Amino acid sequence: MLGAEITATQEDVARWVKEGRHDILQYAWVYEHMGGVADLWFSPKTGDEIGRCPFVRKHPNRNTYFCRIYDTRPQVCRDYKPFSGEYNDVCEDR
Ligand code: SF4
Repeated sequence: MLGAEITATQEDVARWVKEGRHDILQYAWVYEHMGGVADLWFSPKTGDEIGRCPFVRKHPNRNTYFCRIYDTRPQVCRDYKPFSGEYNDVCEDR
């Protein structure tokens, strides 16, 4: 699944603001006029879509992946199998 097909809820965005997670928010395209929902993930430098989640990481020496923002990951990743773009379905591990 491509990055722009992942959305953040108003609650996700509000939580990241409250937590001061600018490292996450910089990758979100927030629609203020729509109550603060957001599309994910976009390059902070170019504004272009990123084809994979910037927070998925590979375990060293293992062929598995984990989520760097697991405790505050977007609701969509809590409700469904996590989407990670090119690593689709492989970032469920912490
Ligand atoms: S669960 Fe996967 S897709 Fe969702 S934020 Fe974490 S690394 Fe990214």
